[in-house]
Amino acid sequence: MFASMKDRIVFITGAGKGIGRGISKVFAANGAKTFLVARSEGVIAGLAEEIRKEGGTADYCAADIASRASLDKAVAKALDVYGGIDVLCANAGIFPSCPLEGMCENDWDAMLNTNLKGTFITVQACLEPLKKSGAGRVIVTSSITGPVTGFPGWSHYAASKAGQMGFVRTAALELAKYGITVNAVQPGNIMTEGLEGQGEDYLKTMAASIPLKRLGKPEDIGNTALFLASREAGFITGQGIIVDGGQIIPESLEAIL
Ligand code: NAP
Repeated sequence: MFASMKDRIVFITGAGKGIGRGISKVFAANGAKTFLVARSEGVIAGLAEEIRKEGGTADYCAADIASRASLDKAVAKALDVYGGIDVLCANAGIFPSCPLEGMCENDWDAMLNTNLKGTFITVQACLEPLKKSGAGRVIVTSSITGPVTGFPGWSHYAASKAGQMGFVRTAALELAKYGITVNAVQPGNIMTEGLEGQGEDYLKTMAASIPLKRLGKPEDIGNTALFLASREAGFITGQGIIVDGGQIIPESLEAIL
């Protein structure tokens, strides 16, 4: 039985859709005070309303994780509304596909600025309240793509996600003295609005290459983030948990029974 998440203040980026939405709903259902961040204000306002109607606690602020000034405003609002931040789910990210041969520097920079620099900026912007929490938790949404696997068209994405894992390990060392743990969830293929954009063929091929025979759900990642945020996970830091239905295990399609 896990200790209660009740009244823990959770700051979630990329909360409007997909995995971030799943994380937000799971934490809210477990009694946490959720603070939702994404660029589209209407979407996070709608989710906050939905969470409140379900009996949960939610507030929100539109912000771009690629901008420190924008994030500072969101953190200031979270502190104004709730008085602190105990858990940061640095989840927002993008994954536009682009083959290496046709990639220009702008494609590379846009990916790295959001996914990797955005992770650093988000953690730094939330650092003072996380230190004050006394048992702060950072949970980064990385991926299997990059740290473990590869996929054509995503060399820049893979680099950003592998970079997040390097960041997690050293941030865990630097922040341990404040009682803050820093870990990552590494999703496989999770059915989100973003993944749907990859097309029907992609989704079918991916589902066929997962031993558990289904794409993941946003709640699968939300539940893992919830565990990493729990008091019971307090001795885990600098780690990544792969949540992929076994996708990285088989050596070939014949290995999937
Ligand atoms: P998604 O459905 O496209 O949702 C992404 C969310 O992030 C949206 O709420 C989006 O809202 C927000 N966002 C994007 N750029 C942002 C920015 N610059 N500032 C603030 N918010 C921003 O994506 P997803 O599939 O849920 O992916 C979420 C995370 O999981 C990403 O880091 C992704 O790399 C990782 N991941 C996903 C999968 C998968 O299979 N789905 C697998 C491995 C890893 P706005 O556009 O309104 O800002």
